[in-house]
Formats: sequence, structure tokens, C-alpha cells
Amino acid sequence: MGNSESSNDGKSGSSKGRIYNFSAGPAMLPVDVLEQAQKDMLNWNGSGMGVMEMSHRGKEFVSIAKAAEADLRTLLKIPENYKVLFMQGGATTQFAAIPFNLTTPEDTIDFVETGAWSTKAIKEAKKYCKVNVAATSKAENFTHIPEESNWTLTPGGKLVHICYNETIGGVEFKDIPRCADDVTLVADMSSDFLSKPVDVSKFGMIYAGAQKNVGPAGVTIVIIREDLIGKARADCPAMFDYKLAADNDSMYNTPPCYGIYICGLVFKKLLSIGGLEKVEEYNLKKCALIYDAIDGSEGFYKAPVAKNCRSCMNIPFTMASKELETEFFAEAAKRNMVQLAGHKSVGGIRVSVYNAMPMEGAEAIAQLMQELLARSKQ
Ligand SMILES: *Cc1c(COP(=O)(O)O)cnc(C)c1O
Repeated sequence: MGNSESSNDGKSGSSKGRIYNFSAGPAMLPVDVLEQAQKDMLNWNGSGMGVMEMSHRGKEFVSIAKAAEADLRTLLKIPENYKVLFMQGGATTQFAAIPFNLTTPEDTIDFVETGAWSTKAIKEAKKYCKVNVAATSKAENFTHIPEESNWTLTPGGKLVHICYNETIGGVEFKDIPRCADDVTLVADMSSDFLSKPVDVSKFGMIYAGAQKNVGPAGVTIVIIREDLIGKARADCPAMFDYKLAADNDSMYNTPPCYGIYICGLVFKKLLSIGGLEKVEEYNLKKCALIYDAIDGSEGFYKAPVAKNCRSCMNIPFTMASKELETEFFAEAAKRNMVQLAGHKSVGGIRVSVYNAMPMEGAEAIAQLMQELLARSKQ
């Protein structure tokens, strides 16, 4: 994967000395994507300028943005009647943009509350429209997904919001909810976007911040069915308005050009390895290594989440004491494995294995788990 010609001391500018970063986000990117970016830094494709220096209206950047969209459409098999928008402000901005674009203040959004991110989306939506929490697993510490047959949807309601993968709690939808035909399903896919194939046509809108699986923080991808666009409230801020974004090819203002370029490199990489079926296959192997280590430990490691909705991206677990967990982090650090602490709200350990985490990283953490288990029996 291309050696860096300049500095090779393992400190800067080379892939030597890279660690296994299990952060929940921003997270690892593929080494060859970073190397390509490094090569392009001063002079992209013979243009004599780097991507950060380009006019977003110039033919060079326009070609980068068009290729990124086309490759994303191919990867996710996005139907013709969906728009792809590259927006800004993270998924958090979408928590407000959704009510501004898709509701009046009198409309209700039905939320399924499965963890910290859906809770945040609910809190934000409440400022702008009515909210019905159709189902929640809060009383069970967000360790499962409420059975769809038990959701109490608003009669005549038109919008259902779910968080496809709860990054903090490690709960992931394995099936797309079967909402009624006239109901628009909206999904926050920030932390499992492009980790597996998804039938886009079952959703009215999918959105994702880039920094978990596809690129730098800030870029926010919105995939939305065309008939949902153009109904924004009169007081919708311009930067939130899906129609303005769509009509201007995501360039109503200066887009996050460099971030879109990196996302584009990641899309090409995923296509080159065979698309999302292959990506999913690889991801399932990685997370199985870690879940197997948990399940085979006779309770030395405890995963709180119900087996039928365990996340393939974020794997939280606990050990019997703080001391054991501290030892775990210290042993991991010795082996160049970092960012393993659970979110401050839940504690314990969290292993995030996004697309760019190599199999070797998952093997190394599973190996560490086995060794600490064996040590505990001595
Ligand atoms: C990270 C994350 C967010 C927030 O993303 P920002 O880019 O920080 O706004 C929202 N939802 C989910 C599921 C996430 O993982």
C-alpha cells in the first residue's frame, strides 16, 4: 500500500506507527485513502492545486463532487427518485432540519427511542413540532429494540423516526420496520452508514454524519425521496432547506469541499473491494470475533444488548470491576489499541469496529480478551 517517500520515522507522514483506533468517531479511515489524499495534497490530478484550495464552482471540484455522488448512488443502489445531498453540521443539525422540512408545528413525529441518539433527536424535534415517543427501551437501559407490533404510532401520523444504529448503547436494527405505505420512515444511520447493503426505497429519508464510516466530521449525507422535498416551512433557515440544497447540487453556499473529496475516495475504495455485500461480510466476521470472545467468557465479559439487535459497529461490554477494566485499557494500550472506554454515560468498554478497522485489529482485541480471561483463571 505505497510507502511514503518522505518521512518514514513512524512519527509523521507515513503509515508506519499507526495504531488500532477503536474510537466511536471520528474514527479510522482506510490507509490507502489517506495515502491518496497525501499524494493529492499539493497538486490534485495535475491541476496545480490541492483540493482545499479549489473553487467549489471550478471544473475540478465539480468533477470530484459529481463522482462522489455517482459512486454513492452505485454503492447503495439509490433509486432515481431520491436526491443525494451533501450538507453540513453533522447529524445533530438534521435533528432540527427534519421538523423544519417535513412538518408543520402541528404535525407529530413518531419516534422509536432506542438510545442516547434517538433521545437527542427527540429533544430537538420537540422545539419545532409535536413528538410522540411511540416506543422506548429506556426502562431497560436501551438494551433492546421494542417489538414493532407494540409501537403506539399516532393515528394518521405520517413520519416515523428511528436511529438505525445506536452508537453509545450498541443497538442496531436488523430489519427495516414495515411502516404503512403512507408513512415516511426517517433513519439516522450515522454509525452504520455503508457498513452493509440497505434497501433505500423502504425509507423516505436516510441521513448520516460522515465521521463514523465515510469521512471527516462535518459532512452530512442526506438521501431523500423527491416528493418530500420542497415543503420546508417559510422560516426554515436556508442552510437547512433540502430544496435549496437539491436545486443547487449541494452548493447553495460553499460546501465542505475537502470532506466531500475524502468521502468520494472512501466510496471508490468500497466499490473497489466489491461493494456493500463484501463490506458487510467483512464486518460480520470482525464483530463475530469480539462477540464470540464475550459469549465464550462465562461472564468474564458481559454484553448488555439483546442478541437479536447487537450492533456490528459498536460493541459495548463490561467487566466485573473498575480495576479489571483499567487493566484491560492498560494492556490494550501496550499493544497499540486505543479509544476503548465506553461512553461516559454508560462506562465499561466499547469496541467500535467501523469499515476501516482491519481484520487484524479485531483479531488483536479478541486475542487480548482471551488472554485476560486466561490470566483470570490462573
Ligand atoms: C455521532 C452520531 C450523531 C451525531 O453526529 P454529529 O456529527 O456529531 O452531529 C448522531 N447520531 C448518531 C447515531 C451518531 O452516531
